[in-house]
Amino acid sequence: MLHKIDVPDEKGIWYNQHLKVSPSTIEEMADYAKRHNCRFVSLDEMEEAIRKKKNVRRWIAVTLDDGYQDNYLNGAPVFRKCGIPFTIYVCTKMVKKEMLYWWEILEQLVLSNNEVILNDGRFFDCSTKELKEKAFLDIREVILKLPQNSLLDSMKAIFANYEIDYNYGNNILGLSWEEIRELSKEPLCTIGNHSYSHNSFTGCTDEMIIRDIRQAAEEMKEKASIEMTHFAFPFGEATAVSKHDIDLIKRLGFKTSATTNEDFICYGTDVLELPRFFVTEKTWKKVIDQIIANC
Ligand SMILES: [Zn+2]
Repeated sequence: MLHKIDVPDEKGIWYNQHLKVSPSTIEEMADYAKRHNCRFVSLDEMEEAIRKKKNVRRWIAVTLDDGYQDNYLNGAPVFRKCGIPFTIYVCTKMVKKEMLYWWEILEQLVLSNNEVILNDGRFFDCSTKELKEKAFLDIREVILKLPQNSLLDSMKAIFANYEIDYNYGNNILGLSWEEIRELSKEPLCTIGNHSYSHNSFTGCTDEMIIRDIRQAAEEMKEKASIEMTHFAFPFGEATAVSKHDIDLIKRLGFKTSATTNEDFICYGTDVLELPRFFVTEKTWKKVIDQIIANC
């Protein structure tokens, strides 16, 4: 599981920057994995191997979550160069430039201030790089506890002391429909469903979840003529994915769905609960070594 294909900014907040893996690292990883008899396959090949209980070893399917524009600008060229099939799970709210990139906004806020004071007086020291990293994580916790369905208003309230561009990121971070159309012509690329809103399923009714996933499917079909058959749950921890959620995805007819549970695919793995390893600039070798040692 990857997110952004870009060079991490050392001056930035690590919690955000670790979503970036640079193109040169992708090349290094591909060389290393291939030298150790790993094979990069598409999600369709992986699904077929699981379904038919094929005896294969060290297969790797590369996936990228969310649909960042750098996947097109930096990712596709390096995956093409290395001959690696890749799946981008697109959140269509990002493509429509309607996203509230609160984690990016928060990074800018702690980087550009020596202290952050919330409207209720809570104070976060941001005077050093180390304290900025801590303030980011502490304020992140505050934001995660805000009502997610009215997040913009809640953020405007707690950050009333600051002038913030809440539209930040919408014109620079997400893929465009044009780029998705181009990517879909790429034989190595698969476009998957990552919901419209990227909201957590927690606290949503089945109807709300289904509407959100179908909205993404319809928008993708209308704007890019793509039928998405693979799904990735749009939120963090594996514990957040319940049996009920899996059943719901099954009802919607997806071929596979991916979680963020860190594990290997093995005999008997449910195609609707594909585990994935989070790969960062610093951890890629550990992940590949684990595959070599276990698969
Ligand atoms: Zn995501």
